[in-house]
Amino acid sequence: MKENTRIDKSLQQLYSPSDFREIGHQLVDMLADHLDEVQSQKENPVLAFKDPEKELAFWKRDMSSDASMLDFYQKILDRSIHVHHPRYIGHQVAVPSVISSLSGLVTDVLSNGTGVYEMGMASNALERIVTDFVAKKIGYGPDSAGFLTSGGTLANLTALLAARNAKAPGCVWEEGHNQKLAVLVSEEVHYCIDRAARILGFGSDGIIKVPTNVSYQIETSVLNNYLENAKTKGLTVIAIVGCASSTSTGSYDDLEALAVFAENNNLWFHIDGAHGGGVIFSEKYKYLAKGIDRADSVVIDFHKMLLTPSLNTALIFKQSEDSYKTFEQKAQYLWDSQQSREWYNSGKRTFECTKLMMSLKVYSNLRMYGEDIFEKNINRLYDLGKAFAEIIKNREEFELLIDPEANIVNFRYINTASEDLNYLNSKIREELILSGKFYIVQTMIGEQRYLRTSIMNPLTDEEDFKALLDEIERISGFIK
Ligand SMILES: *Cc1c(COP(=O)(O)O)cnc(C)c1O
Repeated sequence: MKENTRIDKSLQQLYSPSDFREIGHQLVDMLADHLDEVQSQKENPVLAFKDPEKELAFWKRDMSSDASMLDFYQKILDRSIHVHHPRYIGHQVAVPSVISSLSGLVTDVLSNGTGVYEMGMASNALERIVTDFVAKKIGYGPDSAGFLTSGGTLANLTALLAARNAKAPGCVWEEGHNQKLAVLVSEEVHYCIDRAARILGFGSDGIIKVPTNVSYQIETSVLNNYLENAKTKGLTVIAIVGCASSTSTGSYDDLEALAVFAENNNLWFHIDGAHGGGVIFSEKYKYLAKGIDRADSVVIDFHKMLLTPSLNTALIFKQSEDSYKTFEQKAQYLWDSQQSREWYNSGKRTFECTKLMMSLKVYSNLRMYGEDIFEKNINRLYDLGKAFAEIIKNREEFELLIDPEANIVNFRYINTASEDLNYLNSKIREELILSGKFYIVQTMIGEQRYLRTSIMNPLTDEEDFKALLDEIERISGFIK
Protein backbone atom coordinates (compact mmCIF):
# COMPACT_ATOMS: atom_id res chain seq x y z
CA MET A 1 0.00 0.00 0.00
CA LYS A 2 1.36 3.40 -0.92
CA GLU A 3 1.24 6.16 1.70
CA ASN A 4 -0.19 9.48 0.67
CA THR A 5 2.69 11.85 1.30
CA ARG A 6 1.03 15.01 0.09
CA ILE A 7 1.30 17.58 2.88
CA ASP A 8 -1.85 18.95 4.43
CA LYS A 9 -2.23 22.68 3.68
CA SER A 10 -2.66 23.61 7.33
CA LEU A 11 0.69 22.04 8.18
CA GLN A 12 2.35 24.24 5.60
CA GLN A 13 0.64 27.28 7.00
CA LEU A 14 2.15 26.63 10.43
CA TYR A 15 5.39 28.20 9.25
CA SER A 16 4.09 30.83 6.87
CA PRO A 17 6.51 33.78 6.82
CA SER A 18 3.75 36.05 5.56
CA ASP A 19 1.44 35.10 8.46
CA PHE A 20 4.29 35.77 10.84
CA ARG A 21 4.92 39.15 9.29
CA GLU A 22 1.29 40.20 9.08
CA ILE A 23 0.06 39.03 12.48
CA GLY A 24 3.40 39.89 14.07
CA HIS A 25 3.37 43.52 12.97
CA GLN A 26 -0.18 43.98 14.18
CA LEU A 27 0.60 42.25 17.45
CA VAL A 28 3.66 44.37 18.12
CA ASP A 29 1.58 47.49 17.48
CA MET A 30 -1.07 46.22 19.85
CA LEU A 31 1.48 45.48 22.58
CA ALA A 32 3.14 48.87 22.14
CA ASP A 33 -0.26 50.56 22.50
CA HIS A 34 -0.88 48.44 25.57
CA LEU A 35 2.39 49.55 27.17
CA ASP A 36 1.63 53.14 26.37
CA GLU A 37 -1.84 52.92 27.86
CA VAL A 38 -1.03 51.12 31.11
CA GLN A 39 1.81 53.50 31.85
CA SER A 40 0.04 56.74 31.04
CA GLN A 41 -3.50 56.08 32.21
CA LYS A 42 -3.36 55.25 35.85
CA GLU A 43 -7.15 55.34 36.15
CA ASN A 44 -7.36 52.19 34.04
CA PRO A 45 -7.46 48.97 36.05
CA VAL A 46 -4.28 47.13 36.99
CA LEU A 47 -6.41 44.01 36.98
CA ALA A 48 -10.04 43.71 35.83
CA PHE A 49 -10.82 40.90 38.20
CA LYS A 50 -13.29 38.19 37.16
CA ASP A 51 -14.63 35.28 39.10
CA PRO A 52 -12.68 32.09 38.10
CA GLU A 53 -15.78 30.17 36.95
CA LYS A 54 -16.87 33.07 34.77
CA GLU A 55 -13.39 33.35 33.34
CA LEU A 56 -13.38 29.68 32.49
CA ALA A 57 -16.79 29.90 30.83
CA PHE A 58 -15.62 32.91 28.82
CA TRP A 59 -12.65 31.04 27.39
CA LYS A 60 -14.68 27.93 26.68
CA ARG A 61 -16.87 30.05 24.44
CA ASP A 62 -13.86 31.63 22.78
CA MET A 63 -12.66 28.38 21.21
CA SER A 64 -15.60 28.35 18.81
CA SER A 65 -15.48 32.09 18.10
CA ASP A 66 -14.62 33.16 14.57
CA ALA A 67 -13.09 36.45 15.69
CA SER A 68 -9.51 37.09 14.52
CA MET A 69 -6.34 36.13 16.41
CA LEU A 70 -5.75 39.84 17.04
CA ASP A 71 -9.10 39.96 18.73
CA PHE A 72 -8.02 36.96 20.81
CA TYR A 73 -4.81 38.70 21.88
CA GLN A 74 -6.72 41.83 22.81
CA LYS A 75 -8.95 39.74 25.07
CA ILE A 76 -5.86 38.20 26.67
CA LEU A 77 -4.53 41.68 27.41
CA ASP A 78 -7.86 42.82 28.83
CA ARG A 79 -8.11 39.77 31.06
CA SER A 80 -4.59 39.74 32.52
CA ILE A 81 -2.81 41.59 35.29
CA HIS A 82 -0.62 44.46 34.10
CA VAL A 83 2.77 44.54 35.77
CA HIS A 84 3.72 47.61 33.72
CA HIS A 85 0.97 49.60 35.44
CA PRO A 86 2.64 51.89 38.03
CA ARG A 87 -0.02 50.83 40.54
CA TYR A 88 1.00 47.21 40.31
CA ILE A 89 2.62 46.87 43.76
CA GLY A 90 1.87 43.21 44.43
CA HIS A 91 3.81 39.99 44.02
CA GLN A 92 7.52 39.93 43.29
CA VAL A 93 7.49 39.68 39.54
CA ALA A 94 9.80 41.87 37.47
CA VAL A 95 8.41 44.44 35.11
CA PRO A 96 10.27 43.24 32.02
CA SER A 97 12.07 45.77 29.87
CA VAL A 98 10.96 45.95 26.25
CA ILE A 99 14.23 44.53 24.96
CA SER A 100 14.01 41.47 27.19
CA SER A 101 10.45 40.86 25.97
CA LEU A 102 11.57 41.18 22.38
CA SER A 103 14.39 38.74 23.08
CA GLY A 104 11.62 36.40 24.20
CA LEU A 105 10.13 36.60 20.73
CA VAL A 106 13.47 35.64 19.20
CA THR A 107 14.00 32.76 21.59
CA ASP A 108 10.51 31.43 20.97
CA VAL A 109 11.02 31.44 17.22
CA LEU A 110 14.41 29.73 17.44
CA SER A 111 13.40 27.41 20.29
CA ASN A 112 16.96 26.17 20.87
CA GLY A 113 17.08 23.46 23.51
CA THR A 114 20.19 24.95 25.20
CA GLY A 115 20.84 22.06 27.64
CA VAL A 116 23.21 20.70 25.01
CA TYR A 117 25.76 22.90 23.23
CA GLU A 118 24.71 22.10 19.68
CA MET A 119 21.14 22.91 20.61
CA GLY A 120 22.09 26.47 21.53
CA MET A 121 25.55 27.66 20.62
CA ALA A 122 24.86 31.36 21.07
CA SER A 123 22.61 30.91 24.07
CA ASN A 124 25.17 28.74 25.88
CA ALA A 125 27.94 31.25 25.26
CA LEU A 126 25.73 34.09 26.46
CA GLU A 127 24.76 32.03 29.49
CA ARG A 128 28.44 31.72 30.38
CA ILE A 129 28.95 35.47 30.05
CA VAL A 130 25.89 36.30 32.13
CA THR A 131 26.63 33.80 34.92
CA ASP A 132 30.32 34.79 35.06
CA PHE A 133 29.16 38.39 35.44
CA VAL A 134 26.94 37.43 38.37
CA ALA A 135 29.73 35.34 39.96
CA LYS A 136 32.09 38.30 39.76
CA LYS A 137 29.54 40.62 41.37
CA ILE A 138 29.01 38.09 44.17
CA GLY A 139 32.74 38.37 44.78
CA TYR A 140 33.60 34.80 43.81
CA GLY A 141 37.00 33.88 42.41
CA PRO A 142 37.90 32.19 39.12
CA ASP A 143 36.88 28.69 40.30
CA SER A 144 33.24 29.68 40.48
CA ALA A 145 30.63 28.91 37.85
CA GLY A 146 26.93 28.59 37.41
CA PHE A 147 24.05 28.32 35.00
CA LEU A 148 20.55 29.54 34.38
CA THR A 149 17.50 27.50 35.26
CA SER A 150 13.74 27.84 35.31
CA GLY A 151 12.96 29.60 38.55
CA GLY A 152 14.15 30.00 42.10
CA THR A 153 12.22 26.96 43.27
CA LEU A 154 14.09 24.64 40.93
CA ALA A 155 17.39 26.42 41.58
CA ASN A 156 17.05 26.05 45.37
CA LEU A 157 16.24 22.36 44.96
CA THR A 158 19.28 21.93 42.70
CA ALA A 159 21.54 23.70 45.20
CA LEU A 160 20.37 21.55 48.10
CA LEU A 161 20.88 18.46 45.98
CA ALA A 162 24.47 19.59 45.32
CA ALA A 163 24.83 20.19 49.06
CA ARG A 164 23.62 16.67 49.80
CA ASN A 165 26.06 15.15 47.35
CA ALA A 166 28.92 17.21 48.76
CA LYS A 167 28.24 16.64 52.45
CA ALA A 168 26.68 13.16 52.42
CA PRO A 169 28.21 11.56 49.33
CA GLY A 170 26.50 8.39 48.20
CA CYS A 171 23.62 8.83 50.61
CA VAL A 172 20.28 8.63 48.76
CA TRP A 173 21.74 9.12 45.26
CA GLU A 174 23.57 5.77 45.20
CA GLU A 175 22.68 3.92 48.34
CA GLY A 176 19.20 5.14 49.13
CA HIS A 177 18.46 6.55 52.56
CA ASN A 178 21.06 5.38 55.05
CA GLN A 179 21.26 8.51 57.19
CA LYS A 180 18.75 11.02 58.48
CA LEU A 181 19.78 14.30 56.86
CA ALA A 182 18.70 17.81 57.77
CA VAL A 183 19.07 21.50 56.90
CA LEU A 184 18.95 24.55 59.14
CA VAL A 185 16.77 27.38 57.86
CA SER A 186 15.07 30.48 59.16
CA GLU A 187 11.41 30.43 60.12
CA GLU A 188 10.97 33.01 57.38
CA VAL A 189 12.45 30.83 54.64
CA HIS A 190 10.50 30.58 51.37
CA TYR A 191 8.19 27.58 51.28
CA CYS A 192 10.04 26.15 48.28
CA ILE A 193 13.03 25.34 50.54
CA ASP A 194 10.73 23.39 52.81
CA ARG A 195 9.42 21.53 49.78
CA ALA A 196 12.93 20.94 48.45
CA ALA A 197 14.05 19.40 51.74
CA ARG A 198 11.02 17.10 51.69
CA ILE A 199 11.62 16.13 48.07
CA LEU A 200 15.21 15.32 49.03
CA GLY A 201 13.82 12.92 51.59
CA PHE A 202 14.67 14.88 54.75
CA GLY A 203 11.11 14.71 56.11
CA SER A 204 9.57 17.06 58.69
CA ASP A 205 12.39 16.46 61.18
CA GLY A 206 14.97 17.30 58.54
CA ILE A 207 13.81 20.86 58.01
CA ILE A 208 14.89 22.64 61.15
CA LYS A 209 13.32 26.08 61.47
CA VAL A 210 15.30 28.53 63.55
CA PRO A 211 13.35 31.46 65.04
CA THR A 212 13.90 35.03 63.89
CA ASN A 213 14.62 38.27 65.73
CA VAL A 214 12.44 41.41 65.80
CA SER A 215 13.58 42.26 62.28
CA TYR A 216 12.62 38.79 60.98
CA GLN A 217 16.26 37.79 60.48
CA ILE A 218 17.45 34.36 61.60
CA GLU A 219 18.44 34.45 65.29
CA THR A 220 22.12 33.57 65.06
CA SER A 221 22.68 33.26 68.80
CA VAL A 222 20.65 30.05 68.97
CA LEU A 223 22.15 28.26 65.97
CA ASN A 224 24.49 26.16 68.09
CA ASN A 225 21.61 24.96 70.26
CA TYR A 226 19.61 23.93 67.24
CA LEU A 227 22.57 22.11 65.72
CA GLU A 228 23.40 20.24 68.93
CA ASN A 229 19.77 19.36 69.43
CA ALA A 230 19.59 17.90 65.92
CA LYS A 231 22.69 15.80 66.52
CA THR A 232 21.20 14.45 69.73
CA LYS A 233 18.20 13.33 67.72
CA GLY A 234 20.46 11.41 65.34
CA LEU A 235 20.21 13.87 62.45
CA THR A 236 23.14 14.72 60.19
CA VAL A 237 22.86 18.43 59.39
CA ILE A 238 24.38 19.06 55.98
CA ALA A 239 23.53 22.67 55.23
CA ILE A 240 22.35 26.04 56.41
CA VAL A 241 20.28 28.35 54.24
CA GLY A 242 20.42 32.14 54.47
CA CYS A 243 17.64 34.44 53.23
CA ALA A 244 18.68 37.41 51.10
CA SER A 245 16.04 38.52 51.48
CA SER A 246 13.03 36.82 53.03
CA THR A 247 9.85 36.88 51.01
CA SER A 248 7.39 38.07 53.58
CA THR A 249 9.25 41.09 54.95
CA GLY A 250 12.29 41.50 52.69
CA SER A 251 14.70 40.93 55.61
CA TYR A 252 18.33 39.99 55.04
CA ASP A 253 19.86 37.38 57.34
CA ASP A 254 23.27 38.12 58.82
CA LEU A 255 25.16 36.27 56.08
CA GLU A 256 28.59 36.85 57.63
CA ALA A 257 27.50 35.17 60.85
CA LEU A 258 25.97 32.28 58.91
CA ALA A 259 29.18 31.88 56.90
CA VAL A 260 31.24 31.62 60.08
CA PHE A 261 28.79 29.13 61.55
CA ALA A 262 28.83 27.02 58.38
CA GLU A 263 32.64 27.03 58.21
CA ASN A 264 33.00 26.07 61.87
CA ASN A 265 30.60 23.18 61.51
CA ASN A 266 31.47 21.91 58.05
CA LEU A 267 28.04 22.76 56.64
CA TRP A 268 27.16 23.73 53.12
CA PHE A 269 26.14 27.40 53.08
CA HIS A 270 23.41 28.16 50.59
CA ILE A 271 21.89 31.60 50.05
CA ASP A 272 18.38 31.99 48.71
CA GLY A 273 18.76 35.38 47.06
CA ALA A 274 15.87 34.78 44.67
CA HIS A 275 14.37 38.12 45.56
CA GLY A 276 17.06 40.30 47.06
CA GLY A 277 20.32 38.78 45.83
CA GLY A 278 20.33 41.45 43.13
CA VAL A 279 21.83 43.93 45.62
CA ILE A 280 25.22 42.56 44.55
CA PHE A 281 24.83 44.92 41.58
CA SER A 282 24.31 47.98 43.78
CA GLU A 283 27.11 49.96 45.43
CA LYS A 284 24.52 51.53 47.69
CA TYR A 285 22.76 48.37 48.89
CA LYS A 286 25.28 45.57 48.57
CA TYR A 287 26.12 45.92 52.27
CA LEU A 288 22.82 44.09 52.93
CA ALA A 289 24.31 40.91 51.47
CA LYS A 290 27.73 41.23 53.09
CA GLY A 291 29.21 37.75 53.34
CA ILE A 292 27.46 36.45 50.22
CA ASP A 293 30.88 35.62 48.71
CA ARG A 294 31.42 33.06 51.47
CA ALA A 295 28.42 30.94 50.44
CA ASP A 296 28.87 27.66 48.57
CA SER A 297 25.90 28.41 46.36
CA VAL A 298 23.69 31.40 45.59
CA VAL A 299 20.34 31.68 43.82
CA ILE A 300 19.25 34.95 42.19
CA ASP A 301 16.07 35.39 40.14
CA PHE A 302 16.41 37.70 37.16
CA HIS A 303 12.63 37.74 36.98
CA LYS A 304 12.27 39.41 40.36
CA MET A 305 14.45 42.51 40.76
CA LEU A 306 16.28 42.35 37.47
CA LEU A 307 13.95 43.46 34.68
CA THR A 308 13.57 40.10 32.96
CA PRO A 309 10.44 38.09 32.07
CA SER A 310 9.65 34.97 34.13
CA LEU A 311 11.20 32.49 34.64
CA ASN A 312 14.90 33.24 34.63
CA THR A 313 17.19 32.27 37.49
CA ALA A 314 20.93 32.08 38.09
CA LEU A 315 22.38 29.38 40.33
CA ILE A 316 26.05 30.09 41.03
CA PHE A 317 28.54 27.87 42.85
CA LYS A 318 31.69 29.06 44.57
CA GLN A 319 33.40 25.88 43.35
CA SER A 320 32.39 25.03 39.83
CA GLU A 321 33.34 21.41 40.57
CA ASP A 322 30.41 21.09 42.99
CA SER A 323 27.91 21.91 40.30
CA TYR A 324 29.04 18.96 38.20
CA LYS A 325 28.69 16.51 41.05
CA THR A 326 24.98 17.19 41.49
CA PHE A 327 23.87 14.75 38.85
CA GLU A 328 26.54 12.14 38.33
CA GLN A 329 24.73 9.74 36.05
CA LYS A 330 25.01 8.46 32.52
CA ALA A 331 22.95 9.82 29.67
CA GLN A 332 24.91 8.34 26.80
CA TYR A 333 22.79 9.65 24.00
CA LEU A 334 23.44 13.23 25.13
CA TRP A 335 27.16 13.26 25.73
CA ASP A 336 30.09 10.88 25.84
CA SER A 337 31.05 11.18 29.46
CA GLN A 338 29.43 12.61 32.57
CA GLN A 339 32.91 12.95 34.04
CA SER A 340 34.12 15.68 31.70
CA ARG A 341 33.38 19.23 32.84
CA GLU A 342 31.87 21.13 29.95
CA TRP A 343 30.40 24.52 30.76
CA TYR A 344 28.64 24.53 27.39
CA ASN A 345 26.53 21.44 28.14
CA SER A 346 24.49 22.83 31.01
CA GLY A 347 22.18 19.80 30.94
CA LYS A 348 24.89 18.04 32.93
CA ARG A 349 24.29 20.37 35.84
CA THR A 350 20.59 21.15 35.75
CA PHE A 351 17.34 19.28 36.22
CA GLU A 352 16.25 20.44 32.83
CA CYS A 353 16.81 18.53 29.63
CA THR A 354 15.26 20.80 27.04
CA LYS A 355 15.97 24.24 28.46
CA LEU A 356 14.69 27.70 27.56
CA MET A 357 17.10 30.18 25.96
CA MET A 358 17.08 32.29 29.09
CA SER A 359 20.41 34.01 28.63
CA LEU A 360 19.31 36.21 25.71
CA LYS A 361 16.79 38.04 27.82
CA VAL A 362 19.31 38.87 30.54
CA TYR A 363 22.14 39.66 28.15
CA SER A 364 19.99 41.96 26.01
CA ASN A 365 19.19 44.05 29.10
CA LEU A 366 22.89 44.53 29.80
CA ARG A 367 23.78 45.11 26.18
CA MET A 368 21.10 47.67 25.42
CA TYR A 369 20.86 49.59 28.69
CA GLY A 370 24.38 49.15 30.07
CA GLU A 371 25.92 47.05 32.82
CA ASP A 372 24.64 49.37 35.53
CA ILE A 373 20.96 49.01 34.65
CA PHE A 374 20.37 46.43 37.40
CA GLU A 375 21.99 48.75 39.92
CA LYS A 376 19.77 51.65 38.86
CA ASN A 377 16.66 49.53 39.17
CA ILE A 378 17.56 48.10 42.59
CA ASN A 379 18.44 51.54 43.93
CA ARG A 380 15.21 53.02 42.66
CA LEU A 381 13.01 50.23 44.08
CA TYR A 382 14.76 50.07 47.45
CA ASP A 383 14.70 53.87 47.75
CA LEU A 384 10.98 53.80 46.98
CA GLY A 385 10.48 51.19 49.73
CA LYS A 386 11.98 53.59 52.25
CA ALA A 387 9.98 56.52 50.91
CA PHE A 388 6.74 54.57 51.17
CA ALA A 389 7.57 53.53 54.75
CA GLU A 390 8.04 57.22 55.67
CA ILE A 391 4.69 58.12 54.14
CA ILE A 392 3.00 55.37 56.17
CA LYS A 393 4.69 56.51 59.38
CA ASN A 394 3.35 59.99 58.84
CA ARG A 395 -0.25 58.82 58.67
CA GLU A 396 -1.60 57.84 62.03
CA GLU A 397 -4.40 55.69 60.62
CA PHE A 398 -1.74 53.25 59.46
CA GLU A 399 0.82 51.05 61.17
CA LEU A 400 4.10 50.08 59.55
CA LEU A 401 5.35 46.58 60.45
CA ILE A 402 9.09 47.31 60.29
CA ASP A 403 11.43 49.71 58.55
CA PRO A 404 12.05 47.91 55.27
CA GLU A 405 15.52 46.82 54.22
CA ALA A 406 14.29 46.01 50.72
CA ASN A 407 11.38 47.04 48.50
CA ILE A 408 8.84 44.99 50.48
CA VAL A 409 6.67 47.11 52.75
CA ASN A 410 4.09 45.67 55.14
CA PHE A 411 1.51 47.78 56.90
CA ARG A 412 -2.09 47.75 58.08
CA TYR A 413 -5.00 50.03 58.63
CA ILE A 414 -5.66 50.59 62.33
CA ASN A 415 -8.01 53.56 62.47
CA THR A 416 -11.08 51.71 63.59
CA ALA A 417 -13.23 50.95 66.59
CA SER A 418 -13.41 47.37 65.35
CA GLU A 419 -11.55 44.73 67.32
CA ASP A 420 -10.95 42.58 64.29
CA LEU A 421 -8.10 44.19 62.40
CA ASN A 422 -7.45 40.96 60.49
CA TYR A 423 -10.94 40.92 59.03
CA LEU A 424 -10.82 44.61 58.23
CA ASN A 425 -7.47 44.50 56.43
CA SER A 426 -8.39 41.38 54.55
CA LYS A 427 -11.61 43.01 53.41
CA ILE A 428 -9.73 46.16 52.42
CA ARG A 429 -7.49 44.16 50.15
CA GLU A 430 -10.42 42.32 48.65
CA GLU A 431 -12.23 45.59 47.84
CA LEU A 432 -9.04 47.06 46.44
CA ILE A 433 -8.58 44.12 44.07
CA LEU A 434 -12.20 44.25 42.96
CA SER A 435 -11.88 47.97 42.23
CA GLY A 436 -8.86 47.28 40.01
CA LYS A 437 -7.27 50.55 41.10
CA PHE A 438 -4.22 49.00 42.77
CA TYR A 439 -2.77 45.57 43.07
CA ILE A 440 -1.28 44.68 46.46
CA VAL A 441 -1.12 41.41 48.38
CA GLN A 442 -1.31 40.38 52.03
CA THR A 443 0.64 38.30 54.50
CA MET A 444 0.28 36.85 57.98
CA ILE A 445 2.89 37.96 60.49
CA GLY A 446 2.31 35.64 63.40
CA GLU A 447 -1.42 35.93 63.99
CA GLN A 448 -1.72 39.35 62.41
CA ARG A 449 -2.77 40.14 58.88
CA TYR A 450 -0.79 42.82 57.09
CA LEU A 451 -1.18 44.43 53.71
CA ARG A 452 1.94 43.59 51.76
CA THR A 453 3.44 45.54 48.90
CA SER A 454 6.49 44.81 46.83
CA ILE A 455 7.50 47.78 44.79
CA MET A 456 8.57 46.21 41.52
CA ASN A 457 7.84 48.94 39.04
CA PRO A 458 10.43 51.73 38.78
CA LEU A 459 7.69 53.95 37.31
CA THR A 460 5.70 53.82 40.55
CA ASP A 461 6.14 57.06 42.50
CA GLU A 462 5.27 58.66 45.82
CA GLU A 463 2.04 60.03 44.45
CA ASP A 464 0.91 56.43 43.84
CA PHE A 465 1.64 55.51 47.46
CA LYS A 466 -0.36 58.46 48.74
CA ALA A 467 -3.22 57.58 46.42
CA LEU A 468 -3.11 53.99 47.69
CA LEU A 469 -3.40 55.06 51.32
CA ASP A 470 -6.20 57.50 50.45
CA GLU A 471 -8.07 54.75 48.67
CA ILE A 472 -7.68 52.37 51.61
CA GLU A 473 -8.96 55.07 53.93
CA ARG A 474 -11.95 55.63 51.65
CA ILE A 475 -12.75 51.92 51.31
CA SER A 476 -12.51 51.28 55.05
CA GLY A 477 -15.45 53.66 55.54
CA PHE A 478 -17.75 51.23 53.71
CA ILE A 479 -16.64 48.00 55.36
CA LYS A 480 -19.11 46.51 57.80
C1 LIG B 1 10.27 34.04 44.68
C2 LIG B 1 11.13 33.38 45.67
C3 LIG B 1 11.43 32.02 45.56
C4 LIG B 1 10.82 31.14 44.50
O1 LIG B 1 11.34 31.43 43.27
P1 LIG B 1 10.52 31.21 41.91
O2 LIG B 1 11.39 31.83 40.89
O3 LIG B 1 9.21 31.90 42.10
O4 LIG B 1 10.36 29.73 41.73
C5 LIG B 1 12.30 31.48 46.48
N1 LIG B 1 12.82 32.21 47.46
C6 LIG B 1 12.54 33.52 47.61
C7 LIG B 1 13.18 34.29 48.72
C8 LIG B 1 11.68 34.15 46.73
O5 LIG B 1 11.41 35.46 46.86
